[in-house]
Amino acid sequence: MSRKIESEYDVIVAGGGAAGVGAALGAARAGAKVCLVEKYGFLGGAATTSQVLAYCGFFQQGRTPIKAVGGAGDLVLEAMRSCGMTGEAYNSETTGNWIILLNPEGTKLAFDRVLADHGVDVLLHSRVAAATRTANRIESVTVAGMEGRRRIAAEGFVDATGDANLSLVAGIAMREGDDQGRLQAVSAPIRISGLDPEVPFDREAIKAAVRHYNASGAYPITRDDGGIYTRIPGTGDMWWMIIDLALRDLSSSSFTWAEQRAREMAHDYVAMLRAHVPGFERCFLAQSGPQIGIRESRHPATRYEMTGQDLASGRQRPDSVARAAWPAELHGEAGKPVYHSVGGPGYASVPLDSLRVRGLENLFVAGRVIGADPVAYGSVRVMGTAFATGEAAGIAAAIGAEDGETVGAEVRRLGGLT
Ligand SMILES: Cc1cc2nc3c(=O)[nH]c(=O)nc-3n(C[C@H](O)[C@H](O)[C@H](O)COP(=O)(O)OP(=O)(O)OC[C@H]3O[C@@H](n4cnc5c(N)ncnc54)[C@H](O)[C@@H]3O)c2cc1C
Repeated sequence: MSRKIESEYDVIVAGGGAAGVGAALGAARAGAKVCLVEKYGFLGGAATTSQVLAYCGFFQQGRTPIKAVGGAGDLVLEAMRSCGMTGEAYNSETTGNWIILLNPEGTKLAFDRVLADHGVDVLLHSRVAAATRTANRIESVTVAGMEGRRRIAAEGFVDATGDANLSLVAGIAMREGDDQGRLQAVSAPIRISGLDPEVPFDREAIKAAVRHYNASGAYPITRDDGGIYTRIPGTGDMWWMIIDLALRDLSSSSFTWAEQRAREMAHDYVAMLRAHVPGFERCFLAQSGPQIGIRESRHPATRYEMTGQDLASGRQRPDSVARAAWPAELHGEAGKPVYHSVGGPGYASVPLDSLRVRGLENLFVAGRVIGADPVAYGSVRVMGTAFATGEAAGIAAAIGAEDGETVGAEVRRLGGLT
C-alpha cells in the first residue's frame, strides 16, 4: 500500500455514469487536467450497469422535441452516432415523451472515445474509498484499485457516484430517501432474445399472461398493464421494465435480497411470456444487470434543494447552470409510477447551489445526487439532465467559481445552455 500522493489533477470526478462523463468533459473543456475514477471496468452508469436503455431529459415535453441539453450531452451523442446509434429523438409509445434509445455496448465504446478525445485520464476498476479534508476543502481522495490503495490530489472534486459515495466519505450530512426515509423502488429492466421477428408485441396478450401469472405465481406483478417495453433497435430483442422491488434500506444485505429476488422474478416472467404470448415461444433471458437499477439512495446536503414547485412553475433563475425538463416521475409504490409535468417554458433552471454541498468549498455534486426535494428529484435524476448537471459541476470545479452567473456563462460558452 502506498501512502504518498501520487499525482496532481485539477479535477477528480468520482463515477463514470452520465453525470461523471458530463463532469469530466465540462472540466476538461474548461481547461482542467481531469481524472475520472470508475469502479466498474466500463463507463456509462445505469445505462450500462442496469439495462437502462433510453436517455430521458434531453428534450422538453410536447408534440415536437425541443432540446433542453447541449454541450457535453451533444458531444456524447455525436460519439454514440459514430458507434452505430442514431442519437435521435424517439417518441416513447408508453409515456408519449421524447427519449434517445441507446445500446449499452456502443455506449461503453462511445464514452471511452469521447473522453480520450478530450484528454481525460480514466481509471477503471477503481473505487473512491476515502477522502482527506481540511476544514472546508477536500485535499485528496484514496482510490482502491487493482494495485491497492493510493491517494490522488486535486483542486476540485465532483461526486457523480449516484449514491453520494464521495460525499459520504467526506463527511457531508445526508438524507436517505424522502423526508421520511422512504426510498423509491429499485427495478431490474431485462433484455429478452429469441423472439419471432414477424410477430408484433401484443399488449393485450401480455396483460392476459400477467393476469394468469398473478393468479398463482410466486412474485405477483405490480405492473398489470404489461409494463414498459420496446423492441431494441437493430436487434429484434425486447427491453422490458416489469420487475420492481421496494427496498427496506441501503444495506448490502437488502441489496443482496433485491438482486437475488429480481433474478427469480426474471426467470418466472420470461417463462410466463414463453408459455402464453404469441411470438415468445422460443424466447430467453439475454441479460439483466450487471446490477439492479437504483433510483434513489442518499441525498447530500446542498446549499439549495430544487423543489417540486420550481418544476411545476418552470422557475427561471439568473444563477442557472442547467435545465430540468423531464416530468417528475415518482416511483413511491413499486411498479406504479406517477408523473408531474414541468410548467412555465417547459423546463426549470438548475441553480449552481443545487450542485454545491454544504460545508465544503471544492466538492460539487452531479446527476442523481444534486439537491432536490422528493418531487424535483423525480425529474433531475434522469440521464439527459445528468449530463447537463455533470457538465456544470465539472466546469465549476475546474474554474473554482462559487456563483452561478459565472459558471452559467462558461456553460453557455461551451454550448451547454442556449
Ligand atoms: C430502473 C431504472 C430505470 C430508469 N429509467 C431511466 C430512463 O429510461 N432514462 C433516464 O434517463 N433515466 C432513467 N433512470 C434514472 C437514471 O438511470 C439515473 O438517475 C442516472 O443513471 C443517474 O446518473 P448518474 O451518472 O448520476 O449515476 P449512475 O448512472 O448511477 O452512475 C454512477 C456511476 O458511479 C460509479 N460509482 C459509484 N460509486 C463509486 C465509487 N465509490 N468510486 C468510483 N465509481 C463509483 C458507478 O459504478 C456508476 O458507474 C432510471 C433508473 C432506474 C433505476
